[in-house]
Amino acid sequence: MANAPHDYFSITYGAAREKFLTAAENAGAAIGSHTHPLKGPSGEALALDVATFGHLDAPKVFATMSATHGGEGFVGSAAQVGWLEENRWRDRPDDMAVVLLHAVNPHGFAWRRRVTEGNVDLNRNFLDFSEPVPEKPEYEELHPALCPEDWTDESLASAEQTLQAYADKHGQKKLNRVTMGGQFSRTDGLFYGGTAPTWSRTTILSVLKTHTAAAQHVALIDFHTGLGPSGHGECYIVGNEGDPGIERAGDLWGADGVTIMAAPGGRQAHDGYNLTGITRELAPVPFYGNTLEFGTHPLEIVYQALRADNWLHLHGDLNTNFARKVKDDLKEAFCPDSETWREAVYARSMEVWSRGIHGLAGL
Ligand SMILES: [Zn+2]
Repeated sequence: MANAPHDYFSITYGAAREKFLTAAENAGAAIGSHTHPLKGPSGEALALDVATFGHLDAPKVFATMSATHGGEGFVGSAAQVGWLEENRWRDRPDDMAVVLLHAVNPHGFAWRRRVTEGNVDLNRNFLDFSEPVPEKPEYEELHPALCPEDWTDESLASAEQTLQAYADKHGQKKLNRVTMGGQFSRTDGLFYGGTAPTWSRTTILSVLKTHTAAAQHVALIDFHTGLGPSGHGECYIVGNEGDPGIERAGDLWGADGVTIMAAPGGRQAHDGYNLTGITRELAPVPFYGNTLEFGTHPLEIVYQALRADNWLHLHGDLNTNFARKVKDDLKEAFCPDSETWREAVYARSMEVWSRGIHGLAGL
């Protein structure tokens, strides 16, 4: 009997890992595991697991990654499990390898956090650290309000006043941009990109380089949740003007629900986005990276869940009812407990995935 999409979703990282490994084994994939140095909240092992179809010297490589933002991993994992269980790997052309990177930030996935160990946003960590990191004075100004030291009604109301005043003066869009754009000075702050490559960045690049040694074209979907209208899956193609991949990305991924964000080819454009970094590392091989982002709840709800989690890990106690509520709120912010929502995002995931494989096959 065929499974239903909701069976592909897991409640914990451990359950997701088990489902992925079982489905990969049943599908006859080659499996590799890269063990993370730390453990999960139940003492469980953490790993970036890789399932591969096809040869290491394939001229075309199609890849997908789940859990770049750890706690968002439930959707990407479900897509990878479903793709395996529904035997969609049988559609792979002979000259293409397909590589599934499950839980690229396993620490964040297991602890239900957006960030890696060390509070690093993996999607701001792909800078060229041999150059000076960007300075973010506007983030500095807002940091005390974004990350208050006390989590009380009073301190939150005061923080809200500061943020609202900033939005009134500069606009909500600018407030969002300053908050989410990435910063490299506040290790305890939001959207912190770090000062060196994280374990996840190093491991992702090592896996991708091993599997693309002979590649002439590489396409990849990086799954995310928490931005945009509920249930909508938008493809963001992020890179620099002049990247060979971004110039042709529209042909590969199509026009429907695709936003191309090509920055003028300056230094450190996009402040450490993972797919920009992968483009740089794989060059001159054209890379067609796609950040597939699913909307969950309104941005202020997602923000609030992230700020509460940041406070909890800095100042709070993980063994409290408050902590359990924060983690439940985060799960809901990343992967709503709604069958309709999950069916819609799974269907859209398969549509984009299949479009990517066919687009790559046609090159
Ligand atoms: Zn994300």
